[in-house]
Amino acid sequence: MIVGIDLGTTNSLVAVWRNGAPELVPNALESLLTPSVVGLDDEGRVLVGQAAKERLQTHPQLTAALFKRHMGSAHELRLGTRSFRPEELSALVLRSLKADVERRYGETVTEAVISVPAYFNDAQRKATKIAGELAGLKVERLINEPTAAALAYGLHQRDSASSFLVFDLGGGTFDVSILELFDGVMEVRASAGDNFLGGEDFDTVLVQAFVAAHANRSDMPSLTEPNIAHRLRREAERVRHALGQADSATFVLRHGSGQWEQTFTQAQLAELCAPLLVRLRTPIETALRDARIRPSELDEVLLVGGTTRMPMIRRMVAGLFGRFPSIALNPDESIALGAAVQAALKARDAALEEVVLTDVCPYTLGIEVAVSVGESTQAGHYLPIIERNCVVPVSRVKTVSTLRHHQRVVQLKIYQGESRWVKENIYLGEMDIEVPVAPAGEISIDVRFTYDNNGLLEAEALINRTGERRILVIENNPGVLDPEEVRKRLAALANLKIHPREQQVNSLLNARLERLYQESLGDLRQRLDHMANRFQQVLDTQNDRAIRELRLQLTQQLDELEQGLWR
Ligand code: AMP
Repeated sequence: MIVGIDLGTTNSLVAVWRNGAPELVPNALESLLTPSVVGLDDEGRVLVGQAAKERLQTHPQLTAALFKRHMGSAHELRLGTRSFRPEELSALVLRSLKADVERRYGETVTEAVISVPAYFNDAQRKATKIAGELAGLKVERLINEPTAAALAYGLHQRDSASSFLVFDLGGGTFDVSILELFDGVMEVRASAGDNFLGGEDFDTVLVQAFVAAHANRSDMPSLTEPNIAHRLRREAERVRHALGQADSATFVLRHGSGQWEQTFTQAQLAELCAPLLVRLRTPIETALRDARIRPSELDEVLLVGGTTRMPMIRRMVAGLFGRFPSIALNPDESIALGAAVQAALKARDAALEEVVLTDVCPYTLGIEVAVSVGESTQAGHYLPIIERNCVVPVSRVKTVSTLRHHQRVVQLKIYQGESRWVKENIYLGEMDIEVPVAPAGEISIDVRFTYDNNGLLEAEALINRTGERRILVIENNPGVLDPEEVRKRLAALANLKIHPREQQVNSLLNARLERLYQESLGDLRQRLDHMANRFQQVLDTQNDRAIRELRLQLTQQLDELEQGLWR
């Protein structure tokens, strides 16, 4: 069975193609969104999703989140005594989603289409593929998130030629893509984005405004106190969401015997966030320019990503494009649905008309060269080979020559980026090519870059004098695991014990009680302690019905508590 997966920074979702349509699959907690959070429980077993998210605050040393940001790097995150690479943590999320589908349909999931941000570089894409492998999934295809969104909207089924812009603002990143459909071919014309702009930046602005408003109160807890920064961010996010429904919302921080409050209105939020809205414009302008399209020529603007729920963002998009954006689909869900459409296209489902998808390489790929400047040579220059927004698959060649007499080796260093100088671009890897000994400049090498449908780069060198051709493996990229390492990590992951799926609902309630206990004081704390004890007693009886009833009752009470009804 093949599935479509949105492996997100904050949340992940899985969808399957059934009866001619994509369908999201709920997890063990009956939720469609599985937080991309991995932790170890008190017995050292792996816990994924909402229960792990609840433990972020109470057990920070045993929990990891936001690891998608480190994909394609060698950055390891610690859980207890073990370190994990970002692709291993992603693999644990993928395994959990795979188990959800298998439990529901009783079939083994063997393959997946996984979405990646259009802006993901070569190392990040390779890491995503490896995460799939580590989860026991053959990654049939990596699909760019905006392309997946367009598929979810069924844009590939339109009769007439049309152009769309996908505006994807998630928790931490912003992507804009322009797609064109023509004669059954859907082509991404341009992609641009900002990898450090998303809902969390709006939260930061609110936290700063809250802290500034209380700057003259000396009893305000310091941001360096454990948990305070985390709690302020959670509260900022809650207030930001609430301001989508109401004109005003109150930011509350309780700590020790003190309580600090600040009410924000929608208008204040808009004013505070104005600089962020300005930053959103740059990638939009770049994408429109690269695609050579005017806003009025767009047939549709699609909103994707949780942060596009903010009314302020919708107003801005409407103003910018002179029309209301499409909101037919839930902005959290469209990418996974589109990945499932792509999975069905792969499996050639009869319900889908043949549609050819083409994508672009969103950034320039090139190598380092030295350039003659007067008498001397200057190293560190960038020679672009594939330029940004070329339709993929694409293959391009540039020729380079030896620089010194009797040079034995030509070193090719590969970079991604738009600067003239390699030091300002992203290093992807390098390789050494042995060449015949000859005077400077006499040996030339054709360097061919091929960028495939999955956005993966392959390089080939042809030494013209000898006709020797070499397919080059990009090495020395610490962000990409080699096959031997993958094998070892696969074996290590197989030894990890997984928190039992059927216990997840109870673990979630326990983790939530623990977090709220830590956050509160006095009477409330006693009440939470009492609830936790009661729940433990019922769990000990192993009476499923009693457990379920009490769990529902306590969950409802905690919901009320968190919605502020007990304030
Ligand atoms: P995503 O990366 O697409 O899962 O989006 C996650 C981001 O969406 C987080 O920053 C959330 O705070 C934000 N988000 C989700 N729901 C809402 C909402 N109702 N209003 C504002 N932001 C939201």
